[in-house]
Parts: sequence; C-alpha cells; structure tokens
Amino acid sequence: MISNQFTPLPDEHIYSWTARLFRLSGYPSVSSFLKRYNGSFKNLNANYAFESAAFSIIKNSESAEKKQKLLWKNTIFPVSLISIPNQASYSLNNHFNFSELSDITHMNEQLLFGFSRNWHACSSCMTEDEEKYGMSYWHVEHQLPSVISCQKHNRILLKPTDGLKNLSTLTLPFLINSWVPIIDKPASSILEWNNFILKVHQLSIEDKLFISRLRCQINDKIKIESKYRNKRIDWCDEHTLSFETALGKSLLKHLFRAYSVNSKSGKPRILASFLAPQNNGLLLRNPVYWLALAYWLKTELPQLDKVFNYELSSQF
Ligand SMILES: [Zn+2]
Repeated sequence: MISNQFTPLPDEHIYSWTARLFRLSGYPSVSSFLKRYNGSFKNLNANYAFESAAFSIIKNSESAEKKQKLLWKNTIFPVSLISIPNQASYSLNNHFNFSELSDITHMNEQLLFGFSRNWHACSSCMTEDEEKYGMSYWHVEHQLPSVISCQKHNRILLKPTDGLKNLSTLTLPFLINSWVPIIDKPASSILEWNNFILKVHQLSIEDKLFISRLRCQINDKIKIESKYRNKRIDWCDEHTLSFETALGKSLLKHLFRAYSVNSKSGKPRILASFLAPQNNGLLLRNPVYWLALAYWLKTELPQLDKVFNYELSSQF
C-alpha cells in the first residue's frame, strides 16, 4: 500500500498526510479515497486528537511502531493526553491500548473557547515548504489549541479568510488563496502562554511520561477528588480569584469565551464548570483546561522546571 512508503513530512498533521496521499492516489473523489479506510470521516478537526478519522488512518498503518509514531508525532495526542485520567498506561510505548483510546470522544465544547479553532498555517513555513517539498502542508504545532504563533519563524499564524474547521475536503494550504491572522496584536501574557504550550508540546514528544507526570502533580496539588459535587464547587469558588489573577484578563479572554461575553448568569466560573461535574473519563475535555491549571500552579509543580528551562527548537 502506498501509505507504507509515503511517510509524513516533519511535523505534518496526520490529516495533511492523508490529503497529500489523496492527491497522489488517483482516486476520482475524496469520498471514494476515504472509503478504503473503513471509518467515519465526517469530522477532521485541527484541535481534536481523538476522532474516528484519525484512528481509522492510524489503524491502517502496517506496524505497531508506525502506529505509535503517527500518534505521537503527527497528531496533537501528546498534549491531549493530559485530559485523560489514568493516562500513564497509554504513555508506555509497548503497552499502547488502541481499542481503549478509540472509546474516548471529545466533549462538545466548540463554543466555549476564545481562540481560533480553524486549521492554521504560517506564511514563512508555507514558502519554505513549497521550496523544499513542492507544496505546503498542515503542521501539527500550528494546530495546538490556543497557540497563536509559529515558533520557528516567530510569526502570527494565519487561518483561511473563509474559515476552515473541518478538513473533510482534504485541502492543503497551497490550495487556499486568502488568509487572515488568527489574532491581532496579542498581549504579552498571551505570547508567554503560547511559548509555554509550545514547550510543553515539545517536551511531551521527547519524553512520553512528561505529560502524565504533570497531570499527577496537578492532581496532587488540587486534591479535588471529593465525591460530593458541592464540596468540589466550594473548592473551585474559593480558588477562582487566585486562578484568574495568575492568568490575567487578556489570557482568560483568549482561552475562554465566557470572559468576553456579558453573561446573564453572572461571572464566569471556569474552575467549577471544569472540575465540578462528574466525568466518566471517556468524554475528553480540551487540554487547555488542564494546561491552564498547570500555568496557574507553575511555581508549585516540579515538572514545570523543565518547561521554564527549556529552549524551543525548530526541529519539529
Ligand atoms: Zn513558520
């Protein structure tokens, strides 16, 4: 099968790789091409790690090693792992329980965030990729939730002018004519956050246990395992001011839409809306919630020393 010789480009998203495969395949239409994967291709979102389309593509790969590589290098799985309880079992290279991962689905949170959830690209990467590979492609790093810039070129990311949330047409950046920046004049707090996420992403790829350890340290700090919802709500309300002060208004607006809209139900209660409901673990929350907790507690989490002493590299 062609996909076994045709490998993804550096930092290429799995859906971008599929789009390039389609263009080489000779199939007359996207739907006839995707039928060979035997899965559902209704949604191909930039921000979701757990979609049946991604698993159908990964499953199609010939060896366990290649499956692992696709998951860790060609999707946003490494940072998304922070949202899964008991995730350590998923991190170990040789004990990858694929069917358990396939049971996980994302909670419908489309309207809760302030950041762009489109497919993103960087103008300098597009130029470089076209020179080097003959076409531009979708990079994983540019699709990380809440990330706004390309760390390699230090440029604000772009989104197609008409928007592009679902890649079900298997389009590629070089086929899109018109782009707009995903944010205008970001505040310094958003740029700092952006660097934090990029570093966490790179460390999560380099060390497969990094994100699991980070989640464990957050759990130890917040100690919010109470069976009683009221107790969890009380804890969240007590800590909301500290959380909001640490992140600041601009970053809160960038992350959570509730801080931009005038809600009739009063002030946003992000901590309570995230930590108070009972979750069976199969409905995945966006990793930005856990990463925002990590950012709030950054001076208290030993795992984050690595992040703040880490130099971003452009090898990805
Ligand atoms: Zn770039």
